[in-house]
Amino acid sequence: MLQKVVIVGAGPTGLLLAHYLLRRGKYRVELYERRSDPRLVDVSQDRTFPISLQERGRKALRKIAGLEEAIISASVFCNGSKIYRQRGKALEISRTIPLLTIDRNRLVMILLQHLTQTYNSDQLTVKFSCQCVEVDRSAKTVTLKPEQGEAFSLTYDRLVAADGARSPIRDYLVQDAGLQCDQNYVPDAYKSVFLTRLNPALGLELEPDKIHGWNRDNKTRMLMVPQPGDQLNGVIIFEQEQNPLSSLRTKEEVLTFFQENFPLFGQLMSPEEAEAFWHRLVGRVLTVQCDRFHEGDSILLIGDAAHAVSPSIGQGCNASLEDVLIFERLLEQYEDDWALVLPTFSEQRVPDAHALRELSDYSFPRAKRLVAEYFLRLKIRRFLHRCFPQWVKPFVFDLLLDHDLPYSQVLRLHQGWINKVKRSLPQSS
Ligand SMILES: Cc1cc2nc3c(=O)[nH]c(=O)nc-3n(C[C@H](O)[C@H](O)[C@H](O)COP(=O)(O)OP(=O)(O)OC[C@H]3O[C@@H](n4cnc5c(N)ncnc54)[C@H](O)[C@@H]3O)c2cc1C
Repeated sequence: MLQKVVIVGAGPTGLLLAHYLLRRGKYRVELYERRSDPRLVDVSQDRTFPISLQERGRKALRKIAGLEEAIISASVFCNGSKIYRQRGKALEISRTIPLLTIDRNRLVMILLQHLTQTYNSDQLTVKFSCQCVEVDRSAKTVTLKPEQGEAFSLTYDRLVAADGARSPIRDYLVQDAGLQCDQNYVPDAYKSVFLTRLNPALGLELEPDKIHGWNRDNKTRMLMVPQPGDQLNGVIIFEQEQNPLSSLRTKEEVLTFFQENFPLFGQLMSPEEAEAFWHRLVGRVLTVQCDRFHEGDSILLIGDAAHAVSPSIGQGCNASLEDVLIFERLLEQYEDDWALVLPTFSEQRVPDAHALRELSDYSFPRAKRLVAEYFLRLKIRRFLHRCFPQWVKPFVFDLLLDHDLPYSQVLRLHQGWINKVKRSLPQSS
């Protein structure tokens, strides 16, 4: 008989896990998602941003026939970054291995379409606008509340919390099952921005294969990523405590703000985007560190629900997709015996998730003198690695982006640098 797996959260992690479980032929999957069905409604741009995927995440997608190809066809490859400044030439950082970049909601849409085209309703149910509101682990039931209608409960054999950084299932386990979990908001907040890459009237054209960044100062910066159709999607990042946008009252003020502070990007912003930007919500990033990713033999925490990190080094989604790959390897190894698979998953993955958090918080420095040192180290390491690849490993960012070494090993190799950045921050002194 098929085991019933209830997955809460149809983000990248929940959807990819559904693919992996269903192809094993031993499970029936029910997926419940709080947001609306992206196939039926015009998806709001409030809660989307570009995600860059590297080998770590891509190798997990590749295991499902046709999936990586479908994602690539909706993505853009970037072979480096350009960091603009108020004065002087832009700083160019090249990449030998290009980054695949895709809008989060587009990634979700492709994972979903592929899933529903591959499996029928005997194997898979996907319900949107349906929020998990309660769990009872002794009765093995979960209660869901549809946007319209009465709440209902259902039983599960296995329950998966793929419900993101603010996971209610994780909160339930903290309260009811002694899960230890440290949660913190990062000081930065962000707002999504949607521009075009071209302004023919001004003769402006930003390169289609570069990530474009602008650091106005240590506190406010923009990161814009080319997307198909000459779009440029990205974010403005600022300190929540000193929100430079809070005083803007009209779309004209929004345009002036961007033209004065990020002149290049300001020239690529349409009046419609200025209006939409003003209404758009500010996003906060919650980081999560848990002591285990399971409860008993039936509840799994995975993806951001288990280990959300700051997006500073673009690893959250890569790590979440990699979780799925590792989880399936254990299912294979232990012949789908979840009583063995779940604790082993925690044992293997928790150290890497903790290392990822350190790397995300401290790989890239904020102090001006360390930023200069960072780029110098990057350059020297690249040169030495090219000359003596067997002796010199790449610098931390290249090692994270171009390789799939476990995060704990990356941290071990670069602990000195991470400690230096940590010491430079006021709160860690
Ligand atoms: C600005 C920004 C830029 C980023 N850039 C990168 C990048 O370049 N590279 C990278 O690897 N990562 C990046 N990330 C991180 C990445 O977005 C996340 O790691 C990834 O989305 C995690 O996927 P997930 O499916 O685990 O969680 P989510 O994407 O958060 O999905 C969880 C889903 O669960 C649903 N849900 C929540 N609660 C409930 C409930 N009670 N009931 C039902 N459903 C529920 C949510 O609606 C959501 O759809 C970035 C993040 C941000 C904020």
